[in-house]
Amino acid sequence: MQTSAWPSDEMLDLMPRYEISIDLDNNLQVLTGTAHIHFTNTSPDPWTYVIFRLYPNLEQYGGLLSIQSAAIGGRAVPFSYEDQNTAVRVELPVALFSGKATTVYLSWVLDIPQWEDNALAYRLFGNSQEMLSLPLAYPSLAVYQPGLTTGTGQWWLERGSVRGDAAFNQASLFAVIATLPSDQTPVTSGTLITSTLAGPGFSRHGWVAGPVREFLLHTSNRFQSATTTAYDTRITSYWLAGDEAGGRAALQYTAAALRIYSDLFGPYGYADLRVAAGPLGVRGMEYPQAFLLGVQLYGEYRADLEIRTVHEAAHQWWYQTVHNDPVNFPWMDEGISEYASKLYYEAIRGRSYAESLQARRWQAVIDLLTAGGADAPLNQPVALYADGAQYESVVYGKGALFYDAVNQALGERQFEAFLKSYQKNYRFQIVTPTDLLTELRAYDPKVADSLYEKWIGPLPDEEKPEIGD
Ligand SMILES: [Zn+2]
Repeated sequence: MQTSAWPSDEMLDLMPRYEISIDLDNNLQVLTGTAHIHFTNTSPDPWTYVIFRLYPNLEQYGGLLSIQSAAIGGRAVPFSYEDQNTAVRVELPVALFSGKATTVYLSWVLDIPQWEDNALAYRLFGNSQEMLSLPLAYPSLAVYQPGLTTGTGQWWLERGSVRGDAAFNQASLFAVIATLPSDQTPVTSGTLITSTLAGPGFSRHGWVAGPVREFLLHTSNRFQSATTTAYDTRITSYWLAGDEAGGRAALQYTAAALRIYSDLFGPYGYADLRVAAGPLGVRGMEYPQAFLLGVQLYGEYRADLEIRTVHEAAHQWWYQTVHNDPVNFPWMDEGISEYASKLYYEAIRGRSYAESLQARRWQAVIDLLTAGGADAPLNQPVALYADGAQYESVVYGKGALFYDAVNQALGERQFEAFLKSYQKNYRFQIVTPTDLLTELRAYDPKVADSLYEKWIGPLPDEEKPEIGD
């Protein structure tokens, strides 16, 4: 039996590898980058071209990333934009057959969006409130989804919306070099390997990361920080000058969450975890080995800081290691990350506090929604929800209540075994609702099917042959 949480050498060999070099200008307005991206065609289909997503060009990100050149083996190859410039198609000089690998070189320029300094604003990408958020500021190999028969697979090109998350990526390995103005304190995925001066006013930093879904670069010249350790992981909290009490509280909440979730879901397994203020109002956003919390949570909305922190921390297990399509199945990682906050509070403050949290936060919201005739199915894409309120109530509230129903039906011991096996069996992979159902059926097939039908939707049809390995 394999007990290690780390992937096998075979799994690591098949993961995309990014070697990225980026430079930021002094005014934090332009990023220039180059990357060698090495990847294996793990699908059964031959590829005559590959797709890289340009996430900064999503409407909700608001950036402008333009590819300057593409090359393979030192030779320029043609490329073209697709899907409203949110993807670039790179032609391969020879077809890449199943199991074969290649390396694509890309260079790009990114115009960084500059937003108003409004503390209520929610800005996922760009410069706002003296913070610079640059998740996925590079071309990211698209997820290729094989079809039912050979040759019918497709590249994932969803664009998402302001509601819900849009980033969908394979677990990958990164080596990143970034040259930044020296007054910037970077908050990133991965582990810092080097920091040196790079000419007057600039510093060059190097990180390695992986397996991770993406590489985050988030910086500010106003960050202060503190560090603690939980289960051999170094946790660092970054806050804006003036928000120290909130920043230190976020550090302690994150450390407690890491211990509780490691016990419940399985080991976190990375050397670093970072929590930082971001231009996100009262919301939060998860990234690999890092998450951002809206600046308002450090001040006026401090009462919500703890629950936001522990929700985002849970995404390190549900999104970062076990990943799902966030546009078509947003409830998968959101429901379980939201429910994780009940498990956290139960461990910290006891059962009755956790029960009353559930009653207030999820049950009351769903009751209200249902009374108003505005209930909606859990298993549907973000775009099918009528509005933001319905989306949040169902995806988070009903999503959390589904996991509570599983907990009640299986009993605490079996439920914890399920959480651990779901995490372990799908670590660094992409899950679908069918995978979740399969995992639940291993504990109690009848309970699994009836809960799925009651909460999630109709049972998936079983005609699809199992492609065995
Ligand atoms: Zn979330």
